[in-house]
Amino acid sequence: MTQIENEINMTVKANIDENQKEYYLREKMKAIQEELGDKVKKESDIEELKEKIVAKKMPKHIEEKAMYELQRYGSLPASSGESGVIRTYLDFLVDLPWHEVSIDETDINKAEKALDSTHFGLEKVKERIIEYLAVKILTEKNPQTILCLVGPPGVGKTSLAQSIAKALNRNFVKQSLGGVKDESEIRGHRRTYLGALPGRILQGMKKAKVVNPVFLLDEIDKLGSDYKGDPSAALLEVLDPEQNANFSDHYLEEQYDLSQVLFIATANYLGNIPAPLRDRMEIIELSSYTEIEKFNIAQEHLIIKQIEAHGLDEKKFSISDEAVMELIRSYTREAGVRQLDRLFGSLVRKSIKIILGDKKEKVSIELDDVKDYLGKPKFSNTKAETSDQVGVVTGLAYTQYGGDTLPVEVTYYKGSGKFTLTGKLGDVMKESAQAALSYVKSNAEKLGIDMDVFKESDIHIHVPEGAVPKDGPSAGVTITTAIVSALTNKKVDHFIGMTGEITLRGRVLPIGGLKEKSIAAHRSGLKTIMIPWDNKKDLEDIPQDVKDSLEIIPVESIEEIILKVLK
Ligand code: ADP
Repeated sequence: MTQIENEINMTVKANIDENQKEYYLREKMKAIQEELGDKVKKESDIEELKEKIVAKKMPKHIEEKAMYELQRYGSLPASSGESGVIRTYLDFLVDLPWHEVSIDETDINKAEKALDSTHFGLEKVKERIIEYLAVKILTEKNPQTILCLVGPPGVGKTSLAQSIAKALNRNFVKQSLGGVKDESEIRGHRRTYLGALPGRILQGMKKAKVVNPVFLLDEIDKLGSDYKGDPSAALLEVLDPEQNANFSDHYLEEQYDLSQVLFIATANYLGNIPAPLRDRMEIIELSSYTEIEKFNIAQEHLIIKQIEAHGLDEKKFSISDEAVMELIRSYTREAGVRQLDRLFGSLVRKSIKIILGDKKEKVSIELDDVKDYLGKPKFSNTKAETSDQVGVVTGLAYTQYGGDTLPVEVTYYKGSGKFTLTGKLGDVMKESAQAALSYVKSNAEKLGIDMDVFKESDIHIHVPEGAVPKDGPSAGVTITTAIVSALTNKKVDHFIGMTGEITLRGRVLPIGGLKEKSIAAHRSGLKTIMIPWDNKKDLEDIPQDVKDSLEIIPVESIEEIILKVLK
């Protein structure tokens, strides 16, 4: 019995030993294979990288640096964190363009045609761009100054820059600078930081894939600065043709040549661009569009672009002129055409659904259909006051989003001679209000106001709408007129708008942004605007269709305004 048991035990043991041996050997073999495989894999990876580096034909010192880093990469185990960091760096070196260029279009007529084909109107703007490009083509190098397109949103700044790239046959990249506060966002972080990245300029260059793209620096007026350094100083280096051949990025650790890049900047508001940067730039201002310009842009560009973007056949979608005008007047209120563009997109999508769902041949949108597609109108036809009232006057303001109307309300009640200002008034407007009140007090008799009213009542000035004007003082005449109207209990003609600052003696001083303000007045349904005499020279900038429907009266003194406006 025990003998049998012994034999069985022996056999089992032998089997187990055999299995264990096999298992052990197999595991060992696997480990060796893995080790070998990893090594082989890494070796082929290094070989591949090396080929890429050589093929890239980097400048000599960059290639040497890349090779040095490659060697370090090879000596580190794949699992180490540093190995990953070096790998990312090497990939970046290989992805950056070092000498790849696109060949410029040198036929200025073709460039001009390209700009004309993408943008309606904007004659002066296009002319200046073409002159700029002509100098560039003639001298075969980038002009000393950088183009900066300044204007409200949606007036075509970005798309013009894209067209310039197309006209020159260059690649296009865009980097937004809005909210960039830290210098390292421009120049990158040192590689010693975890998760370090190159700066926005070199990231843009990587996307561009060539050393001579058109590079759009968007929203240059929204650059900030804080304790981490001033990004505009770094940007100055980027834009300076004397320095930008040797641009240094902390991540790259080596200098990079930006001298062939054609930089173009955009901004909403000129006043917010840091002064040293502004000095480097050739400013081209774009202003708001009038209704007629918007209509033409829609008919010639926006509608067809949306139809094509959605893959619809041009024959299957149409919209009447009246309906287009209704969209402009009652569904959008903007300086540019961005919202309008979106509305066409939305109409095209809805039409596609109808064509597919209801098996229709085509969709034609008439004036009466607009409500069914887009809901109730968002804006009433005019924004002006709807009736003549006491103490309510329409001023005109220039904000970073274009011109706007700026109603001012004044009322007074029993009190002790206090003076209250409410609404979103900037400091400048507060001073205008003080000056207006002083003018009214010192001319009370002439204006038919009893002096006692200042002692026995409190005066309250309110600016209901939030738009804070950007053009400095220009509400003086509006506030003065509103005070006089309230205190004399005379109604104000609600079809008249006005703009201008006043001196204590009542002289009307010139203002900025007349073109924008007149377009806004026109948009809001005003019939007359009163402007400072010294702004007469700016009348030529005002679009003809605005001049045709708006009476513009230049005045020298506030008395002329009061006589005309108060009823
Ligand atoms: P911005 O950069 O000034 O905010 P965009 O360039 O983004 O404005 O323009 C918004 C849209 O309006 C784009 O689709 C652009 O093509 C169109 N657009 C603006 N102005 C014109 C114009 N004059 N002609 C044709 N399309 C225009």
